[in-house]
Amino acid sequence: MTTKYLFFTGGVVSSVGKGVTAAATGLLLKERGFKVAVQKLDPYINVDPGTMSPYQHGEVFVLDDGAETDLDLGHYERFIDIRLGRVSTFTTGQVYAEVISKERRGDYLGGTIQVIPHITNEIKRRVGLAAKETGAEIVILEIGGTVGDIESQPFLEALRQLRNEVGRENCLFVHVTWLPTIGATGEMKTKPTQHSVAALRSIGISPNFIIARADDPIDESLCDKIALFCDVEKRAVIPMETAGVLYEVPLMLEKRGVGDLVLEKLGLSARQKPNMKPWEKLIAEVRKPKPTIRIALVGKYVELQDAYMSVREAVKHAALANGVEVDLAWVHSADLEKDKGWEVVESADGVIVPGGFGSRGIEGKILAARYAREKKVPYLGLCLGMQVMCVEFARNVLDLEEANSSEFDRGTQHPVIDLMLDQRSITDMGGTMRLGLYPCELQKGTKAAAAYGASHVDERHRHRFEFNNSYRTQFEKKGMTFSGLSPDGKLVEIAELNDHPYMVGSQFHPEFLSRPMKPHPLFVGLIRAAKERARK
Ligand code: GLN
Repeated sequence: MTTKYLFFTGGVVSSVGKGVTAAATGLLLKERGFKVAVQKLDPYINVDPGTMSPYQHGEVFVLDDGAETDLDLGHYERFIDIRLGRVSTFTTGQVYAEVISKERRGDYLGGTIQVIPHITNEIKRRVGLAAKETGAEIVILEIGGTVGDIESQPFLEALRQLRNEVGRENCLFVHVTWLPTIGATGEMKTKPTQHSVAALRSIGISPNFIIARADDPIDESLCDKIALFCDVEKRAVIPMETAGVLYEVPLMLEKRGVGDLVLEKLGLSARQKPNMKPWEKLIAEVRKPKPTIRIALVGKYVELQDAYMSVREAVKHAALANGVEVDLAWVHSADLEKDKGWEVVESADGVIVPGGFGSRGIEGKILAARYAREKKVPYLGLCLGMQVMCVEFARNVLDLEEANSSEFDRGTQHPVIDLMLDQRSITDMGGTMRLGLYPCELQKGTKAAAAYGASHVDERHRHRFEFNNSYRTQFEKKGMTFSGLSPDGKLVEIAELNDHPYMVGSQFHPEFLSRPMKPHPLFVGLIRAAKERARK
């Protein structure tokens, strides 16, 4: 079958759920029996978001092959339940880097390098790769940012060209916009949508679908108006009010007939009836009244919850599996250092210390780990969270007062967490960490092995530092077990406390592999232990 393309553009403002909408649409198509691939095109100049602060960009999502990507890739994987790879995303930075290196090699034979055709050709080549490498029948492509941004112009131009090359019948443009409400009159407005569609049309693209987002219910008359002014078929104007539960979005789109309409417009017919029952069940489960437990998330970027997107989702998945509601309380680790915020930690039934970089707030995280160990509060440490758990143990159980990670104190006498050997000579920061999927052997009889119910797992990593093996025996003698090791036994991948209901830390990021219907075992273990504590 010819590859079909579904392009998602954004209008009016960003952050209105374009990624979630694209992901949910992908699910509806997969459910109809098609092999779907997803691609996110980010117009910024960074090569990847790996070097960007979470404040700028939210979480960095890591794929099996070690690609550091936009958090929307997380939505795609969770909704569609697929595993994506490097080909699923690229940025302006990558496009230019490729074109410039070709130019330096002399590949262009004296030509003048221009946005059209050289940059747009490279964009089209990379779009084509997604279908080629994955064998997908339908490629869902999301363009970051909003129409009208200077940076996104070459991308839109490339897609406009692509539409002519692959045939208009094989491409659809879905424009996701926002309908603001004027406070004084309570009136919802379509004008910004009209303007953004006009901007899109000025570059030669007419949308086939408009997904109109708003926080409140959207009157049908507004959809009529959008259809009329934007020259889009009425049934292809999809009103989407903000969903109470994220995972309801596929059901909302399905109810509006999006799955069937997309296929119809692509000249395809469903190969099977979509089975949305599991999602309906999931939503019904979410809606059921349940006992609430509190989990404190002690982090550094807590002002921006997008920085911990996958952690938050993984907690939700594990809560559902345990039949509880989780009140996720965000605590700034730097506050704990100033004796603030402890009432939140003390009121919690479990503590999570997520990943992070740099020394700000690190002592607060160590204090949180100490509290969890001493008070026997369930604790899950994710990457940095495992490292601080080890530093705390070294300082307060092994009496190595100065113990630290050499990330935070280069000259520490006791670098219980130290730079990995192969990291020592690295000078470039971008894409050089230990990244992506690595195998881990679980030690029999440990909490980790029990949680997984397996002896071998593969998990996603993103770090430079690791547990320093010269301290292993000391730690083990005093009650810490290294329950997950690399197959050669050389790298500590999971550490846990023996005399504790659940104090587990992983050097990898389990949150990246959690799915709504397949919650991650380590998170399920944490919530189970926290629920048990709340019950007592
Ligand atoms: N900064 C730590 C390291 O590089 C932890 C990284 C993380 O939490 N992802 O090892």
